Amino acid sequence: MTASVQSDLSFLTELRRDLHAHPELRFTEKRTAGLVASRLQALGYTPETGIAKTGVVATLDTGRPGPAIMLRADMDALPIWENGTALWISRNDGIMHACGHDGHTVMLLGAAETLAVDPPERGIVHFVFQPAEEGGAGAKVMIDEGLFERFPTQFCFGLHNWPGLEAGRLGVRTGPVMAGGWRFRIVITGKGSHAAQPHLGTDPLTIGAALVQEAQLLVARRTDPMVAAVVSFCIFEAGTTDNILPQTATLAGTLRALDPHVLNDLKAGLARLCAGLAEAHAAAISVDFHQPYPVTVNAPDATDFARAAMLKLMEQEGGSAPDLDIVPSLASEDFGFMLERKPGAYAMIGNGNSARLHAPDYDFDDAIIPRGVRYWHTLAQGCATAL
Ligand SMILES: [Zn+2]
Ligand SMILES: [Zn+2]
Repeated sequence: MTASVQSDLSFLTELRRDLHAHPELRFTEKRTAGLVASRLQALGYTPETGIAKTGVVATLDTGRPGPAIMLRADMDALPIWENGTALWISRNDGIMHACGHDGHTVMLLGAAETLAVDPPERGIVHFVFQPAEEGGAGAKVMIDEGLFERFPTQFCFGLHNWPGLEAGRLGVRTGPVMAGGWRFRIVITGKGSHAAQPHLGTDPLTIGAALVQEAQLLVARRTDPMVAAVVSFCIFEAGTTDNILPQTATLAGTLRALDPHVLNDLKAGLARLCAGLAEAHAAAISVDFHQPYPVTVNAPDATDFARAAMLKLMEQEGGSAPDLDIVPSLASEDFGFMLERKPGAYAMIGNGNSARLHAPDYDFDDAIIPRGVRYWHTLAQGCATAL
């Protein structure tokens, strides 16, 4: 790699901190997308903007026939109040880059730069900067707006930083790597009453408490113990004061599994449980399932390209051996929508011993930026020769 490329990598740290200080929520990543597009223009690309509102795509065409691949980063932040101590702490109240998408954005920009300087032998590389990974399914919206028709591609690749994995260490696996999921919202309608006369009402709070407990049995007693699944209630709202039994309770949460059939069973089981508890306690319980995310499944051939790039990097630069069969996560990822349509591989890069993703004291580790850039670079080069 040339000296000029190296010095530009330090610029990426400045940009990462700038993005961190100015986080933007899903589909409103205007400033971020603007910076991405202008950087790409400065590098000689002609980026397409405004896909899925704020998405940006730039294409590197070597002019020599070969494979087309897509490298994807996400740009959005989360509605979290940051409580870190870094100088680049969020300036936007209640919004924070708590998932490291600021880091993902600059690593892909870095790759767009190094590949412009040192392009693959042949073929095409599309750089995709997507909005709204966090709960907005921005990848799906880009696909619905014609991503794959406008930018034909054979393989898609994603990369996420991973706290708890040694800083800069890369990892990937074949098959399911991130869970499929559903969000749910349940409203229990009973009959409000005096706290001292529960028999004159129908208490939705105790029914809700039973529901939260019983739903855990969908995993513990209705799912094969060798299979990964989780039911989490994240919201339970009921009541106004301490001497009234409320009329309604609202509960919300998420179901996750690495196997779509298991996920369907969880969903059907929760619906059944709601119907059964409603019947048993003479209450009304509505359950609404929304925001389905598919399981993110890595294709064998694409995963092998990712593995080859990781091993080559280790050979060239040293560092820890990559984890070539990394443990999957029950977090979910809208990159799964891309992998439903195209073969590809979603990989991890260690963020070291940092706070966990979505925690208010999380921060992306700038020291891993060069490794991430070179992973993208090596992967693109490798695909051009292997395919
Ligand atoms: Zn996240
Ligand atoms: Zn994320």
